[in-house]
Parts: sequence; C-alpha cells; structure tokens
Amino acid sequence: MEHPYFEYTDVDRRFWEERLAGRLPRNIFDAHRHVQLPEHLDESVERYTRGSFPEGIAGPESVEQARLGYEIMFPGHDVQFLGFGSPASNVDCSANNAWVSEELAGTASAGLALNRPEWSAERLLEELRRPAIIGIKPYERLKRGFEGGDISIFDFCPHEHLELLDDLGGWLTLHPPRSERLADPANIDEILEIRRRYPNIVLVIAHLGRSYAGRYAREGFPQLADDPGILFDNSAVLNPAVHALALDRFGPERIMWASDQPVFYMRGRRRWEGDRYINLTSGDYAWNVDREPPEVEATYTLSLYEAIAASLDTIMGLGYGEAEIRAIFHDTARRLVDEVMRRKETW
Ligand SMILES: [Zn+2]
Repeated sequence: MEHPYFEYTDVDRRFWEERLAGRLPRNIFDAHRHVQLPEHLDESVERYTRGSFPEGIAGPESVEQARLGYEIMFPGHDVQFLGFGSPASNVDCSANNAWVSEELAGTASAGLALNRPEWSAERLLEELRRPAIIGIKPYERLKRGFEGGDISIFDFCPHEHLELLDDLGGWLTLHPPRSERLADPANIDEILEIRRRYPNIVLVIAHLGRSYAGRYAREGFPQLADDPGILFDNSAVLNPAVHALALDRFGPERIMWASDQPVFYMRGRRRWEGDRYINLTSGDYAWNVDREPPEVEATYTLSLYEAIAASLDTIMGLGYGEAEIRAIFHDTARRLVDEVMRRKETW
C-alpha cells in the first residue's frame, strides 16, 4: 500500500540502513503526532493561516495512514504513539477527539484531546473520559478569533482546565506561544506558574519549547533546568546544537522523541541563520523559495530521518549510549503514558 504523503526512495532506504536502523530500539514511542480525518475540519469556516511552513506538506493523516507511515519508515520496529488532532482553527475538536479515542482505545497508543479555551471544566471532563484520552493539547489557534501575535498561555489554556487536569493527574503537552518562545520571560514565568500551581499534571513542553534556532535554547533552557518535573518532546528539532543543549541542561530522562507527523514527511534539510531556520526541501510548496541545485536536492531524505539522525548523533556524540537512546525513544514516554492510563481508571 502506498502512503498519500510521501514516496519512500532508495535515498531513504540507504539513510535508514546507514544512520538509523542499527541504533534505534526495537520498541519506539512517538510522543507527539497529529491524526485527523478531513471531515474533522469545517471548511465552511475560514481558517487562520500563517501562509508559510508547514502549509501544503500534508493534509489530515488518519490513524491507519500513520501506522502505515511507521511501517514504511521504521521497518522491523514497533512504533506506538501519543496522537491528537491537528490544530487548524476550523477543527471540530470534539469530533476529532471522539475519533482519536475510538481508533486508539484498546491499543498500546494513546491520545490527547484538543480543547477550546471557552469550554467549561465539565465539558472538558467529558472529553477526558473518552477511552484512551489521557490529557490535552491546547493551541493558541483554537482560541476563537485568534489572529496571530503574542498571547498568554492562560488565554488558550485556562486555569479552569489546568485545575481539572491537576485533579486528575492528566497529561499536558504545551505548545509555547509568543514569537520569542523560551527567550520570552513571560513564557518562562507561566510555565513555572503551571508547575507551582498544578504539580500533578504531567507537563511536556512541545518541540523543546519551539527552540528550532539556538538562541531560544540558550536563553530559555537554563531557566527550566532545575525542575525535573518539566519534560520535553523534541519533535521538529533538526538542530544538533539544540539537541546537545537540551541533553546537557535537562538530561536524557526528561526528553522524549517525537515526530510531529505528518509535517515531517517533507523531504530535505535545515540551515540556521541567527534566529531563523531555513527549510531546504525539494517539495513543491508555495513557501519553498530557498532552492538548491537539483543534484543536491536529489540527495535529500525525509526530514523526519534528519531529525532522528540529529538526535541520535548528538546522544552518541555526548558520550551517552543505548540506555539513554531507549529512554528518549521509548521508555520515558511509555512509562508516563502507562501511569496516566492507570490513573484514568478513576476519572
Ligand atoms: Zn505538532
């Protein structure tokens, strides 16, 4: 069966064999990936868009397609995941959550609920009681009328929701807002406030705090280093220096590998200039203007492979080994998901 969003080539097969296959554990857990059906989006409602990356890479990916993608990309490995809807502003959160729950109930994977900030705690509790749903994935774009710009975490992830999640001991994967990411002291203050007021929440900061470029990591990581209860997923980070800083400041036990699929079916590499990253890709996307010669683009592999290689090379380069790779690519996420699943029996 073919996957709708990527073609697996000889370049990929070689990259897998040479750089990844022998180093990844047999069991892998992907701590952050999106799953959705087209009908979960209300196309009669205009959607908020940045008009840039990651537009155009992939449409909604079903659970079946997600599993097919793992089979193709990780042959011989068992990949389970924590999945949730894509946060398009026109998504029907409840419909997406209900479907994620149905698809994942009784499997070794789990889901998070997308939540609208205007929901009452009672409404959110209904979503959290769905089978296999262990927490929430709030997004600024899910706030009605969001038009970009800096807003507080509590504007799209209200205290009422956090109180409920704290009572339940649920999971929160947090996409930090604000253009300065972890270099913005307001984000640091709010993350520390969540830890102080809601210590029972399993708090995971997405994308290493959206530290795709180095300064956000340099400025932000030290301020989050001391609290072992602040966890991270490393999805969408291709920057080896950022992986290294994260390993050094947080240690391998606080970092979970994640893919952010379906975005990283994209093919290509990244370059960094100051606070900017440049996606070098061969994809025919409207925003793709930094092109390399065709013979160079022909050597591009899947961006997800590049991200994994960056993580593995850094882990090994810093003198860690198999135990740390297992922790990052499986054990920590698996253990935490299982812990919340056990608590969920009382929700
Ligand atoms: Zn994501």
